[in-house]
Amino acid sequence: MGESTQVLVIGGGPAGSTAAGLLAKQGMQVTLLESATFPRYHIGESILPSVLPVLDLLGVREKIDNYGFVRKNGAYFEWGPENWDLNFNHLTGAGGYSYQVVRSEFDRILLDNAAELGVDVRQSVKVTDIAFDQGRPVSASWVRTADRAVTGEISFDFLIDASGRGGVMATKYLKNRRYQEAFRNIAVWSYWRGVAPLDRGPEGAIAVCSVPYGWFWAIPLHDGTHSVGLVAKRTTFVEERDRLGGIDKVYFDALAQCPRVAGMVEGAKRLTDFKVEQDYSYTSESFSGPGYLMIGDAACFLDPLLSTGVHLATFSALLGAAAISAVVEGDVSEEEATAFFDGCGSF
Ligand SMILES: Cc1cc2nc3c(=O)[nH]c(=O)nc-3n(C[C@H](O)[C@H](O)[C@H](O)COP(=O)(O)OP(=O)(O)OC[C@H]3O[C@@H](n4cnc5c(N)ncnc54)[C@H](O)[C@@H]3O)c2cc1C
Repeated sequence: MGESTQVLVIGGGPAGSTAAGLLAKQGMQVTLLESATFPRYHIGESILPSVLPVLDLLGVREKIDNYGFVRKNGAYFEWGPENWDLNFNHLTGAGGYSYQVVRSEFDRILLDNAAELGVDVRQSVKVTDIAFDQGRPVSASWVRTADRAVTGEISFDFLIDASGRGGVMATKYLKNRRYQEAFRNIAVWSYWRGVAPLDRGPEGAIAVCSVPYGWFWAIPLHDGTHSVGLVAKRTTFVEERDRLGGIDKVYFDALAQCPRVAGMVEGAKRLTDFKVEQDYSYTSESFSGPGYLMIGDAACFLDPLLSTGVHLATFSALLGAAAISAVVEGDVSEEEATAFFDGCGSF
């Protein structure tokens, strides 16, 4: 006989740790299974101020404020001949700033915080299968990643799928993930030391600067490095790669066409091999059903142009936690809660 929990959360990224933490704070019994061992690498370093109220609810904002991440006061966009400063100090309510984070460190703080709020967090444990009873997920099988001989099963009342891009429910069971043709893009990035600070825009800004078939980001990080990445239309990128003879050649050729970022990187040292992601913009046809919700990247993701990923992850987690606790409290039926959750996702 396996063990049981009230809510099972798959994945300990920002979505999973936020939903799990908020539910545990409500007094619910929550188990979170995370396949990686934290700290683990993740892309997605530029955070929006809309995340701050969620950090407040989790009680972790002060810790993140004091951690030493680069304070992000806005963004600088340079698109062809035009440029804009986006200054967060014009915002009311959220705090007027945000952060540029090393995600391995940011995500670990959030996951540790979930454990402090009472979540039973288990790392290095991967969910392999989900069992259903008349369309409702009721239990999950798992394996310990460091020792695949160790396996188990856990049953639950509610499932939150926060498994990120892998998307256990959407890709393995529901098969309802649809890719956005307009955003069939590819991203290539690396980390650099010795990058000159951006000499315009708000303090700590992300630089977003166009090239003829895409755009570059440059994000300053508190460890003294910069994340510098190219996003390009996939078809054009592939043509350029074949023409020039490699991914690195496309990156440097595009960089030469982006004077702002090229100027910052001049004389800097590249520290890592290039990392690549493609076809990462998608949505699921629905985000919930009987006994389950999908949040964060497990549900959908939009191109990183406006740095919305962690915002969507934490905000959908907040909505998901509210929906489940409203059902448990008896305020609404499960159908009403999932309709509310799916309705919010369709905006
Ligand atoms: C090129 C690029 C640039 C980006 N830039 C930004 C940016 O600047 N700002 C921003 O906000 N966002 C950005 N994003 C998006 C951001 O990375 C994601 O939206 C965000 O990480 C989503 O959080 P999440 O918790 O949903 O998923 P994740 O952070 O991916 O977490 C999912 C977790 O689930 C775990 N997991 C997966 N499968 C299983 C399983 N079977 N069992 C147990 N655990 C499992 C994984 O190990 C992982 O830790 C970018 C994305 C890309 C591709």
